[in-house]
Amino acid sequence: MRKFTSFIGLIITISVAAQNTNYWQQHVDYSMNIDMNVENYQYDGTQKLVYTNNSPDTLDEVFYHLQFNAFQPGSDMDIRLQNIADPDGRMVNNLGTRKAPIYESRIAKLKPNEIGFIKVNALQQDGVDVKHEVIGTILKVTLNTPIIPGGKTVLDMNFKGQVPLQIRRSGRNSDEGIALSMTQWYPKLAEYDFEGWQTNQYIAREFHGVWGDFDVKITIDKEYTIGGTGYLQNPNEIGHGYSDMPIKHKKKVKKLTWHFKAPNVHDFTWAADSEYIHDKIKGENDVTLHFFYKNDKEIIENWKKLQPKTAELLSYYNTHIGQYPYKQYSVIQGGDGGMEYAMCTLITGGRNFGSLVGVTAHEFAHTWFQFLLATNETKHEWMDEGFTSYISSQAMNDILNQEKENPNAGSYRGYLRLAKSGVEEPLTTLADHYTYNYSYSNSAYSKGAVFLAQLGYIIGKENLEKTLKKYFEDFKFKHPTPNDIKRTAEKVSGIQLDWYLIYFTKTTATIDYAVDNVDTNQITLKRIGKMPMPLDLKVTYTDGTDENFYIPLKMMLGSKPTAATPLNSWSWTAPTYSFSAQKAVKSVEIDPSHLMADIDDTNNNFGL
Ligand SMILES: [Zn+2]
Repeated sequence: MRKFTSFIGLIITISVAAQNTNYWQQHVDYSMNIDMNVENYQYDGTQKLVYTNNSPDTLDEVFYHLQFNAFQPGSDMDIRLQNIADPDGRMVNNLGTRKAPIYESRIAKLKPNEIGFIKVNALQQDGVDVKHEVIGTILKVTLNTPIIPGGKTVLDMNFKGQVPLQIRRSGRNSDEGIALSMTQWYPKLAEYDFEGWQTNQYIAREFHGVWGDFDVKITIDKEYTIGGTGYLQNPNEIGHGYSDMPIKHKKKVKKLTWHFKAPNVHDFTWAADSEYIHDKIKGENDVTLHFFYKNDKEIIENWKKLQPKTAELLSYYNTHIGQYPYKQYSVIQGGDGGMEYAMCTLITGGRNFGSLVGVTAHEFAHTWFQFLLATNETKHEWMDEGFTSYISSQAMNDILNQEKENPNAGSYRGYLRLAKSGVEEPLTTLADHYTYNYSYSNSAYSKGAVFLAQLGYIIGKENLEKTLKKYFEDFKFKHPTPNDIKRTAEKVSGIQLDWYLIYFTKTTATIDYAVDNVDTNQITLKRIGKMPMPLDLKVTYTDGTDENFYIPLKMMLGSKPTAATPLNSWSWTAPTYSFSAQKAVKSVEIDPSHLMADIDDTNNNFGL
């Protein structure tokens, strides 16, 4: 353990040195006591927050998220469901046919004892009652005493919650029969950063939080096994697969109090069921991998086979991004698909083996891209879903020996379809505000993955690998922004990349290059799409030999490492580019790697 600790210490020193000196980050420590009633799905809670204002501003108000309030008729989430053309199928009933659907919001149908809520019974700042107001899923608190820069305050809350029927991510009694999927379930302090308070209403997705330590006690019926964020402090009182010895609870004991601690996280999630099997294995660096799944003979074999694959995934991400810093990670059957949380994921469990490994690969990768590199997902959804999709496809290719030439080919197909669909919006669109869920998904997941894969085309594969590692070292446990990945790639490669970030994330400009003309040894190329790119070319001569060429963009002011013959750079102001090869040309191919997301590859070849 000592060796591991000193490794972390070293990293912190390096990352502080690499950090922009203007950067600051708020801090909050949570202590919560929760008493869960598994009969009526209500819970009573007390919460103490110690909030440190590291910003240069004096704060006279603070905001919390009360996300369970979204699961009520008339909420913004409900109204959005009633108006979006392609609602999430899990959140609606289809009263029509598949071809002519008539959607009904499931939230609109919830009865009072089925809705979700968090009701604030009392709130005090430093022991004195404080004014507060609930606005949808946001709680606005007007402080009695402003928090000065560098100051601290203590906020004590007494609240009551009700777990909604499972509609999306959270809830009770999922389709697979998981009793409690407790995500976005507690009063969560909103983040305050260089862009101000991050107070999005909970509509569908994407979370952002304040880094800090959690100390959580959950009291629940003794039959239930809990998996989630945090290290269990009292395994020998609890048992349930956490202690080395089986523990028999006295008959008169009805409930157990589980005590969890989670250091340096920005969320806390748990799930509970009375039928969980709980397995543990060791992964790299003595990390304990926990698995919680239903005692259902249909799924047990897959969940056993998943365990060594999860250990391989841990090693893959440790090697290709950076060391997992916690001592525990849990894969938990729960929720309604797959969603990433602190030190754990909730996934549905009744899947074929490939899908089970795939969803685990994706959600586990989010520990790096979104959890540790905690980008604001409400604004930069492509950095979270896209980077995760990129690395998890690479990992799957490796651990399942898929031997795909381009593991991200599916993301390219998704993006190219979107680019030609007529409904593409720029990646700077707020995650919840895309006109269609279709365009959100293909933007965030597919175009976001292509952003990285294509960055590898621009700066070279090895520079991309170095970029990911440096980005992790410099920005883990922080809130990096799009500029941070761009600057990291610039520092690693020596290539100017402003143009790439802006064209690909702030516009819907597309890439289309063509071979315009070939005359003996004269080759003319043409840029048809608005977005400029450097070009890799493969030229075959009439004598049967071939030669690779590389044309950087002039505004890159640099080149990627390549064995190809370098040519003069191409300015974005020039629509065409000509050069002479040494010998008579038989055929020309633009970007044989297909890593450049050219929307029309029918004009990329001559003579093939
Ligand atoms: Zn994801």
